[in-house]
Amino acid sequence: MLTNQLVSYLNQELQVAAIKDYCPNGLQIEGRPVIEHLVTGVTASQQLIDAAIAVNADAILVHHGYFWKGESEVLTGMKKRRIASLLSHDINLLAYHLPIDVHSHWGNNAQLGKVFELEDIEPLATVSPAGIVYQGRTNTTLGEFAALVSNKLGRDLVVCEGDTQKSIGLVAWCTGGGQGFIEQAAAAGCDLFISGEVSEQTIHVAREMGIAFIAAGHHATERYGVKAVGEHLAEEFDLTVTFIDIDNPA
Ligand SMILES: [Zn+2]
Repeated sequence: MLTNQLVSYLNQELQVAAIKDYCPNGLQIEGRPVIEHLVTGVTASQQLIDAAIAVNADAILVHHGYFWKGESEVLTGMKKRRIASLLSHDINLLAYHLPIDVHSHWGNNAQLGKVFELEDIEPLATVSPAGIVYQGRTNTTLGEFAALVSNKLGRDLVVCEGDTQKSIGLVAWCTGGGQGFIEQAAAAGCDLFISGEVSEQTIHVAREMGIAFIAAGHHATERYGVKAVGEHLAEEFDLTVTFIDIDNPA
């Protein structure tokens, strides 16, 4: 399909115009005008670019692209090498950050709720932008739920606190670096908050506000959104879509 056609479809479906973000969402680097093979991945790292070149991809679609607010604007070093690789191979880079976190069906948060087999999955109404924190229900203990999360994501977790018998009903989560939302989750009466990352202060908030907390990895919690978007595109259009997971322990 035409690159322009794919970009406008995604910009519309992911409601780019309505979401304020820290980076440009959509086509970040222009490559060839026609796309047959699309590679999806979490971050536009050199490893992902090299993998896309190796499979002759026409475009890469990621959650973490480039040009973040506050970063240096010059194209030197690592950034120069990444962008030179893309340009010299005429590969398009499409990036969607918050639009892929919050989307009601393909979003990282919506998808992660399914991975954890939760019920009544919906955005936590008290936070904005809508969909940045989700909630869902289960009926289990902290120990059992942590085991499920670890199992599904295939990695070790940071779990706070030690009472594995604590009963867990209402769960809230924000993928990636969303640990700062723990206070809103506690205020909303959740038994457990899950995020990708943990800060030193997150543990104190968990202890003092009486909410259990799990950090399950930024990368591990953010693989599902971009993958779901890619699967949808492969069904909807005449495209070959390959999800490439570049492992990241963080
Ligand atoms: Zn992220």
